[in-house]
Amino acid sequence: MTATSPSPHPPYTLGSKFASATVLLLVLLAYTLSLWQDAGKGGEGGRSGLSWSADGLIGVLYAVPLFLASTIVCIQYARTKAFYPFATGTSAQRSPDRVLFWLRVLILVGNVVQFAPHLEFHGSGGGDIAAGTSIKRGPKQDVDASTTPSSALSTSPWWFWSGLEGVSKAAGLPVFWNVGWLFVLAMRSPALAPLQAALGLGYEHTIALHRLMGWSTTFWLMLHSIGYIVAYLAEGRATTMLLPGSDKSNMNVVGWIGSLLLVFMAVTALYQVRRSHYSLFAIFHWHWIPFALCCILHVPQDAMVILPALALYLIDRLLLISGAGTGFLGGARVTATAIRVSDDVVVLLIPVGPSRADSTAGTDSELDTTLSTMYAPGRFLCLASPNVRVTPAHPFSIAAYSAPNRTAVVMIRALGPFTKALHAIATLEGSPVPLRVSPPQSAPVLHVPQEFGAADTVEKVTADNAAAALGARVSPARRIVVAGGIGVSKYLAGPFNDAESTSAETVRKIWLCKSPIEFHMYQALGANLSGWDVYCKHGFDLHPVAPVLATTMDADAAETDLGEGLMAAATPALDNSTGTPRATYPLFAQCTTLPISAALRTTLFLTLAGAYAAIYTASRAPTYATCSDPSPAASFWAWIECTRWSTIAPYFSVLVGLPLVTQVVMAVVGAVRWQVRPAGEFRTHGTRTPEGPEVVGKVRALVPRRLDVGKVLGLDGVEDGISGGRMARVVREARAACSFRVPGVQVRVCASKPVRSAFRRATHAVGGEFVDDGVGF
Ligand SMILES: Cc1cc2nc3c(=O)[nH]c(=O)nc-3n(C[C@H](O)[C@H](O)[C@H](O)COP(=O)(O)OP(=O)(O)OC[C@H]3O[C@@H](n4cnc5c(N)ncnc54)[C@H](O)[C@@H]3O)c2cc1C
Repeated sequence: MTATSPSPHPPYTLGSKFASATVLLLVLLAYTLSLWQDAGKGGEGGRSGLSWSADGLIGVLYAVPLFLASTIVCIQYARTKAFYPFATGTSAQRSPDRVLFWLRVLILVGNVVQFAPHLEFHGSGGGDIAAGTSIKRGPKQDVDASTTPSSALSTSPWWFWSGLEGVSKAAGLPVFWNVGWLFVLAMRSPALAPLQAALGLGYEHTIALHRLMGWSTTFWLMLHSIGYIVAYLAEGRATTMLLPGSDKSNMNVVGWIGSLLLVFMAVTALYQVRRSHYSLFAIFHWHWIPFALCCILHVPQDAMVILPALALYLIDRLLLISGAGTGFLGGARVTATAIRVSDDVVVLLIPVGPSRADSTAGTDSELDTTLSTMYAPGRFLCLASPNVRVTPAHPFSIAAYSAPNRTAVVMIRALGPFTKALHAIATLEGSPVPLRVSPPQSAPVLHVPQEFGAADTVEKVTADNAAAALGARVSPARRIVVAGGIGVSKYLAGPFNDAESTSAETVRKIWLCKSPIEFHMYQALGANLSGWDVYCKHGFDLHPVAPVLATTMDADAAETDLGEGLMAAATPALDNSTGTPRATYPLFAQCTTLPISAALRTTLFLTLAGAYAAIYTASRAPTYATCSDPSPAASFWAWIECTRWSTIAPYFSVLVGLPLVTQVVMAVVGAVRWQVRPAGEFRTHGTRTPEGPEVVGKVRALVPRRLDVGKVLGLDGVEDGISGGRMARVVREARAACSFRVPGVQVRVCASKPVRSAFRRATHAVGGEFVDDGVGF
């Protein structure tokens, strides 16, 4: 077997750019429409429902093309190539923290913009309500206080009720706006997720915004619901307005059910609960489905803004479930090889695609390019036990893709039930472990486009142009990437990791390695460690009598020397009995699906687009706005047509129907293209056998001691007067985000929380820019 390097391949076709840009534009359009209040108006009472024309307008303007564009992306490009150029270009390397700061500001401003203009106060003098003046409460909800005045109502000042009314009503609007963004921020496929793709953010980054958005949604919804409930109680109309019966009260029933669901989600998402009971949190978070339904049923015309994002989110999830090229319902079932690395680390070898000899899909090099692009290190896979469907799938970063073995490598630290179970199954020789594996998600955080570009059109990153090429606004010598333990997996993508392109003068890459065996395993399994300074306080010898594997460098020199790398040795095959890396590991027989070809993808797209058009057209119905609450007894069909369900039927049929069709089609395609990949052998890299794979990237230095953080960051002599309080941090971040000053140093860290916090403080102490790439472990 020889090492095969993927052939150069232009990554972005015109079509993929077009489709990606269309999705982005349509989402923007959708939000613009949400601010255009008249779009949802129909009938006499203003926002009393959608008319045929308004429904058609919204459908034509964004629902229909949005689905078409999504399908194009989904079927044509998402599998490997549709990272937006933006996402992988220079903007990808700008500080995500600054981008995230401005997004946070935008989100909060959006909330205020949705809230403030909708504030309405009625009543102009003391005692209006008590005197029987009716106040406006949204569609069809005018309250005649004189009919049921309670003592609270008659004794409280008018402005209190008017204010409560106005605030409660307006507080509902930001909820719709936020729910749409909540979906956008939780997406994982770079091809579809508009924000991640356009701004070069990873899922790991936007999920922090998702949390902020979740909390602000909870705030507004509580204000909205509690305000109305208090008003109803004061009016003595709680039972008539909050229990099912009429169209008005049905609207409130879905409202308070939705509020309760959000409270459950919010409580279980609290850091304290989420951290210790992740499964509980994950299960409760699935309540987003009934919650979104309640939002839509509550006020369909206001909820239109949710639909495009929801549509994208569903397709995003579908990609993960049925994912092009992996299988049907629940990702591919694979038999991975679990190797025990240390007392708390296990590595999984996951064969992907057909074995070399069996490949029938075009040329080998085409398939290799596809697979190595798909399984780029730094992206992540979600793994789950095939037999347990209720627990969440667990995300793990791809540490390496071994091209000669066609195998993705995932390094896992045993923390909780799932990872400990994996560790328990693992053996030194490698044992089989059945798993459900999702397609790769998100984009590598340090990814730059050169990796997939055609060789002749790509500008090589050198020490001179690195700052510009990487989009860094800091001087090349002061970019530092720090990885703790298995956190290094996130940073091992492509050309950023290229020894030539990232000499220590441009980016200082520091890996705080927990044990020598982890380092050797990474290298043996094909990780690209070129240019890294590896610090391990235990040294790098695996066995007392084993040869010294690495040239260790002088500790001080390692921190100051920016010259030639010293580590050149590959990992030799070691004695198996000592628990050190072996020359080979078993790969077990399993079913696998070939990635689908361009022609087949186009056919699928046309089929799905046709199915979409048929479903949408066939399911269009008049809206309830044209009805006057007929009783079911009078005419069943009229009653059906006049329900809220009927109003949103076209959208629901698309939201539910299209995914179903997609599932079925992908299942058929998957079944047709299934193969059995026979049992084989994973040959470790650097084994020095004549045909064995070679070490992928050589480290710059091995330093057998602790890292001196102060020295690396130039902290010596700097007073660490940084306050660690949350408010102080927000102010610091705000100042940094608004400043055009080029920071002296940019530090990116993916490590455990204490290490990240230490680096954050140290970076701020020297006025640097800190980027948190942590994934929560
Ligand atoms: C993008 C990403 C990449 C990751 N890459 C790696 C990796 O390469 N190697 C590695 O060892 N770990 C990685 N993790 C962390 C890994 O997902 C958790 O350690 C693992 O899921 C723990 O599961 P458990 O059942 O053993 O423990 P639990 O007790 O269930 O969880 C322990 C902690 O892990 C986190 N976690 C658990 N399940 C999930 C989930 N479904 N999604 C997000 N976080 C979860 C939570 O913070 C939780 O408190 C990554 C996480 C993310 C979000």
